[in-house]
Amino acid sequence: MMEVNKIKFLKIKGIIFDIDGVIKRGSFPIPGVIDTISELKKRGLRIVFLSNLSTKSRKEYSELLQKMGIHVSPEDLVLATSATADYVFKRSITKKVYVIGSKGLRDEIASRGLKIMDNPEEAEYLIVGSPFDEMGYVTEDNRWAFTAAIRAILLSGAKFVAVNPDKLFPGTGGKPVPGTGTFLGAIRTATGAKPTIIGKPSHLIFKMAIDRLGVSPEKAAIVGDQVDIDIIPGKRAGLTTVLVLTGLTRRSDLEKMPHRKRAMIDLVLEHPQELLKIVR
Ligand SMILES: [Mg+2]
Repeated sequence: MMEVNKIKFLKIKGIIFDIDGVIKRGSFPIPGVIDTISELKKRGLRIVFLSNLSTKSRKEYSELLQKMGIHVSPEDLVLATSATADYVFKRSITKKVYVIGSKGLRDEIASRGLKIMDNPEEAEYLIVGSPFDEMGYVTEDNRWAFTAAIRAILLSGAKFVAVNPDKLFPGTGGKPVPGTGTFLGAIRTATGAKPTIIGKPSHLIFKMAIDRLGVSPEKAAIVGDQVDIDIIPGKRAGLTTVLVLTGLTRRSDLEKMPHRKRAMIDLVLEHPQELLKIVR
């Protein structure tokens, strides 16, 4: 590792960890990561976890991680669902929203005191997550989603906010199902409206994760497994960037990467536990 990066890491006081491909893979923790995080906490570092998950509330996800042996309090999770609820709550005047998406998203929105309307024409904000389940069916709660979304925009002039831009999602058996982004494309075709995206790679969720961390970006790092959605927006947010090879990026991918992209990565680690050798 280059000396310049080593020096940079000595002042790190907080770390934002991506979850999938960094902390866990599927429903299993990545070996050694649980101990790494508790050691980092012992050294006094602030830790926050960031995920583009659009289907679960922080409470539900914290319980699910707990079952895998990963202890994370809901307050230290920044999910696309909770970040979207926070964003809209801060800006909404009437607090009236129309929601497309999962129960977890609805729970986060309702817990902020936003009013989920049955009639899209009464909504100040249209909040869009994925209307699809893991088999790729539009769920019962969302069966009117396409029509409701275009009516909220065209008849009520609702502000259009999306949880994430993810096009595809690995469904049951790893088979592709459409994600939120696919649905956004349909709404855009119908109305011409472009949503404000909250989840990665939007700067909005990074800003919220940094606020949650309570450490200024120059003293904080992002640890992620994907250059496009973790490293590049992390760098733009002023964070030190660490790519780990425990997820979707392999070392051979780095060799093929254009130089300007590669230059956004401050440090490449085989495994998150190597952080223990670098931060104090
Ligand atoms: Mg990831």
